[in-house]
Amino acid sequence: MKEQTTVVPAPQPKPRQTRLILPVLFILVSMVFMLYYTSRLFNRVTVSNLREAGQDRISSVAAELENYLYTTKSVLWVTADTVDYMTRGGRTPEQILQYITEESQNQSEQFDENYTGIYGFIQGRYLDGVGWTPPEGFDPTERDWYLAALEAGGDSAIVPPYVDAQTKAVIISISRLLPDGTDVLSMDVTLNRIQSMMAGLQVKEKGYGFIVDQTGIVIAHSDETKKGGSLTRTAEQRTLLEQILTLRTGDFETDLDGKRSTVFVNEVMGQWYVVFAVSDQELYAEMRQQLLVNGLICTLIFALIAVFYFIGRRNERLYAQRLEQMKTEEQRQAYETRVLKLEKEAADHANQAKSNFLANMSHEIRTPMNAIIGMDEMILRHTRDDKITGYALNIKSAGSTLLSIINDILDLSKIESGRMELVPVEYEFSSVLNDVVNMTLPKATEKGLSYDLRADREIPSVLRGDEIRVRQIMLNLINNAIKYTAQGGVTVLVSFDRGTGRLRVRVEDTGIGIRQEDMGKLFKSFQRLDETKNRNIEGTGLGLNITQQIAEMMGGSIRVESEYGKGSVFTAEVVQEIVDGTPIGNFTENLARSRQQREEYRPTLVAPKARLLIVDDNEMNLAVISELLADTRVQITTADSGAECLERLREAQFDLVLLDQMMPGMSGTQTLSAIRQERLAEDTPVLALTADAIVGAREAYIREGFTDYLSKPIVYQDLEQALRRYLPPEKQMTREELEAQERARAEKPVVLVVSADPEKLRQAKGVLCEDYRGVFLRDEAKAEKYRSAHEVAFVLRDG
Ligand code: ADP
Repeated sequence: MKEQTTVVPAPQPKPRQTRLILPVLFILVSMVFMLYYTSRLFNRVTVSNLREAGQDRISSVAAELENYLYTTKSVLWVTADTVDYMTRGGRTPEQILQYITEESQNQSEQFDENYTGIYGFIQGRYLDGVGWTPPEGFDPTERDWYLAALEAGGDSAIVPPYVDAQTKAVIISISRLLPDGTDVLSMDVTLNRIQSMMAGLQVKEKGYGFIVDQTGIVIAHSDETKKGGSLTRTAEQRTLLEQILTLRTGDFETDLDGKRSTVFVNEVMGQWYVVFAVSDQELYAEMRQQLLVNGLICTLIFALIAVFYFIGRRNERLYAQRLEQMKTEEQRQAYETRVLKLEKEAADHANQAKSNFLANMSHEIRTPMNAIIGMDEMILRHTRDDKITGYALNIKSAGSTLLSIINDILDLSKIESGRMELVPVEYEFSSVLNDVVNMTLPKATEKGLSYDLRADREIPSVLRGDEIRVRQIMLNLINNAIKYTAQGGVTVLVSFDRGTGRLRVRVEDTGIGIRQEDMGKLFKSFQRLDETKNRNIEGTGLGLNITQQIAEMMGGSIRVESEYGKGSVFTAEVVQEIVDGTPIGNFTENLARSRQQREEYRPTLVAPKARLLIVDDNEMNLAVISELLADTRVQITTADSGAECLERLREAQFDLVLLDQMMPGMSGTQTLSAIRQERLAEDTPVLALTADAIVGAREAYIREGFTDYLSKPIVYQDLEQALRRYLPPEKQMTREELEAQERARAEKPVVLVVSADPEKLRQAKGVLCEDYRGVFLRDEAKAEKYRSAHEVAFVLRDG
């Protein structure tokens, strides 16, 4: 077989690392981008939310403050108008004092405890609604509230806060110049209420708020300690104040106490500014915290994704590796299967060639063997010389040995190529036993051995199985027993187990036996044991091997027990079906009886009226068969080709045709189909003559249309048996019958019919009855001659 190589493509190196890292990088970049984007968005939203919240806070505080101041202003204005009216109406300062005293009380009761009282400089006198007595030298016109009112010129003036000498509270005054241009009415308000507003001025508990006036005085502050302070002390404060005064309302960024801060401003009544300041650090702390958390979460998610991704990739890689391994394994297996297939094909091919060779060889050998055995048979029949008879008998025995060797080789080749087939047929078991006894007993007798065949009387009479192979197994074991026994004898025990359908043949001998160590070699082909001792015994070492294999094919086995030097027991078992369970009875007795009968009366076939056509391309074969059948007086016609066979059949009617298989030109099978096609010899049996003693041949030939087959070399007994079976029974007789017929014919009285007219002679033939034998002659001279030599009853002549 040729060396086979399969090129398995090397796996492409894959950029695993790049492939692995790229997606992870992609995820990372996307996440950073996402984080950045969401942070910015969040930042924007948070800042704008905070700003909005700051603005809202500040404007609501401003509105509240404005409202508060406005209410205060309104009270002052109403009171001032009333005082002005009273002055103009000529009311005395005492009356006015009483009024403002009442009013002060009213205000603090009705509105707010922060209204500390109403006072003023009216009609050149200082009047105080809460009854405060000014100290010595107190000049109201020098007081801030008076001066501020003058400056405001009729509008409300707010005086920066101061600590009230009496209550110690931080107070602001709101004053107004009356229409007379000298009187001023003023009202004090403690900053408690405004201060409380500052407490709420925080955004999410961040930052601080304060109210500052145009001069920088802190009117209120979330940090109460800073209340009353000034925004003019440090450069930073001054800048802040400047920015507040410039912007008035809105927000801006600046540095406060070294921290970047956002400042929200809202102007109140054009004089005060509500301010809220928060450092960026504070403002964005939450947002930064949130961003940090976001970042952490993102990192965690990324780490998890990366871990899962790497695990996934690793699993994928492992899976791919496993897949790759499986693929390689699959390829390897496919390759091996292919190699095995090719090897098997090659082996099958070789086996086939061997079988064909053996079959051909056996055919080639059988054809000349046919001539040798046939001619030898002729010599045996015709010679009277004892020496020549002896030579011929030796040829006969050597020929049959050679034939059995060829058969064994053929069988073995069939078994080895798996073409050995069993051909199950229905058969009478006693006929097999008969054949076996006939073929083995003479050999045992010849060697002076006892021969005892005991068949169980319960064996079913008709079985189904391969009859030929059953016979072969029995023959092989019994022949071996006879071959390897010099003294004593052979006992054959045959039985049948109806339960298991097993036919058992046990062959015992008192022969040379088999060594224990040789038992293993026994069933091996071409193995012969004890070569030196058995040198003179014919054999190939094939028989037992074939026998065992056939037995196994038939669902059975072969067992051996042996004692070296004492003898052996071979037991074969094969499974056979029961067709007719009737017991065969006492076979030994039956056998003895039939032998006796046969010896007494041995009919030989004679069929002078039967017509036989023999077709064979080998002239020697034609001559052998014709010679073998000479004594039967069968009318033989020969043909040496298929074409000639057809011609003969067209010319005449035959009772039986023997047709050779292997012929140049038309083979036997082709000739047969031509015969059938032309509808020649429709009722005539046609037997195939074949040199291939192949198993199942009979079935094969019958399938092809042959009636039966005869295997070459032709053995006379087989030939006669075939003729008996296939020639019309009315044309068959025994030699004795023929002789009697001839004798009777000779004894009949002779009627001599003499006439020159052939028509008359024919008529005379028709009218002669069975009791006479007619002799028909044309002229008188011949009649005279006949009469002188024979006894004639009477003579019929032309009248
Ligand atoms: P062979 O053609 O040599 O007889 P077999 O296959 O039939 O081949 O037998 C194989 C060998 O087994 C024989 O050569 C012989 O040595 C041994 N053998 C077979 N049968 C017997 C027996 N009955 N007694 C002793 N030896 C036997």
